[in-house]
Amino acid sequence: MTKVIQMTRTGGPEVMELVDVTLAPPGPGEAQVRHEAIGVNFIDVYFRTGLYPQPLPAGLGMEGAGVVEAVGPGVTHVKVGDRVAYAGRPIGSYAQARNMPAAALLVLPEHIPFETAAAMMLQGLTVQYLFHRTVALKAGDTILFHAAAGGVGLIACQWARVLGVNLIGTVGSDQKAALARANGAAHVINYNTENFVERVREITGGKGVSVVYDSIGKDTFTASLDCLAPLGMMVSFGNASGPVPPFSLSELASRGSLFITRPSLMNYTAKREDLEAAATSLFGVVGSGEVKVPVHQRYNLADVAQAHIDLESRKTMGSSILLP
Ligand code: NDP
Repeated sequence: MTKVIQMTRTGGPEVMELVDVTLAPPGPGEAQVRHEAIGVNFIDVYFRTGLYPQPLPAGLGMEGAGVVEAVGPGVTHVKVGDRVAYAGRPIGSYAQARNMPAAALLVLPEHIPFETAAAMMLQGLTVQYLFHRTVALKAGDTILFHAAAGGVGLIACQWARVLGVNLIGTVGSDQKAALARANGAAHVINYNTENFVERVREITGGKGVSVVYDSIGKDTFTASLDCLAPLGMMVSFGNASGPVPPFSLSELASRGSLFITRPSLMNYTAKREDLEAAATSLFGVVGSGEVKVPVHQRYNLADVAQAHIDLESRKTMGSSILLP
C-alpha cells in the first residue's frame, strides 16, 4: 500500500484527500519511484480548482524526486537504485510512491539532493526554456519579470544575473522585494504600492523593456503590454490571479507591433533530447552554485492543504516541497 493524494471533485484545498492505494507493478516502459521529496507548484492549484480540467477522480502534482524501486519491461533510461527526478505529466506526484514513464525521468547528479531536486525541477526547467528558447536573452537585455520572489521568480532573478540580463522584478511586499534583490534582481517594484508601468518607464528612461514574463494573468496583462518597447515580446505563462480575458490583436499593433506567446513547459520538454538538454543546463547552473534553490517551505504530504492555502494566499516565497 502507498499513500496518495486524491480528489473526487474540484474546489478548495479541502478536496485533496490522503488515501491508501495498492500500487501495481510498473508496466512496459515504466519505472516505480519511491519519493523522497515532492514539488508544490502553482499549476497544482489550477488543476485542483478545475481551471485546468482533468477527468475525476484524479491525483495531483507534477514533480518529484526519489529512488527507482522497480522497472517494467523495455525500460532503458533508468535502473533500480537510481536517484531520479522529474517534472511534468502524468499528474500524480503527491504520493509516497508511483509509476512513471521512464522516459520522463532524469538521473540526478550526485551533488543535487532530493529536496533541492523537488524544489527546482519544474520551476528551473521553466526558467531555462523561458530565458534560452522562448526568447534567447543576451547580456544587456532589460526584462520585466512578475512574482519575482516566487518559486519560478527567485530562480529567474539568479539566472538573469548569470546571463548579464537586467531583471526588473515585481513583488507583493517589502520582504519579498528584499529577497528578490538579494537573488539578483537589478530593480524591484512592489506592485501593491507602486504603479509598475510608470516605474518601468522611469527605470528604462522611457524606452520600455524588450520582454515581459507575466505569470499573474488577469490582474497584470494589459499593464504588462504597456511596459514593452516597440517590437517587444509578451510572454504570458501563467494565471495566478485568473485567466487573461479575451483581447483584440489590435492591442499589439497600437503599442508598437508587439509579439505575444503563451508557452508551456510540457511542449518545450516533450522530446527526450530537449528534456535532457534543458536538464543539463539547469544542473549546470545549480552545480556551479550560480543558481541556488533552497527549500523555503516544507510540509508533510498529509498537510498538503496548508501548502496550497499558503501558496494561494501569497504567503510563500521561493519553492515549497512535500515530504512523503
Ligand atoms: P509562485 O511561488 O510564484 O506563487 C505565485 C505568486 O504569484 C505569489 O506568491 C504572488 O507573489 C503572485 N500573485 C500575484 N497575484 C496573485 C493572486 N491573485 N493569487 C496568488 N498569487 C498571486 O508560484 P510558482 O513559482 O509555482 O509559479 C509561478 C507562475 O508561473 C504561476 O502562474 C505558474 O502557473 C507559472 N508557471 C508556468 C509554467 C509554464 O510553462 N507555462 C511552468 C511553471 C510555472 P506576490 O505576492 O509577490 O505578488
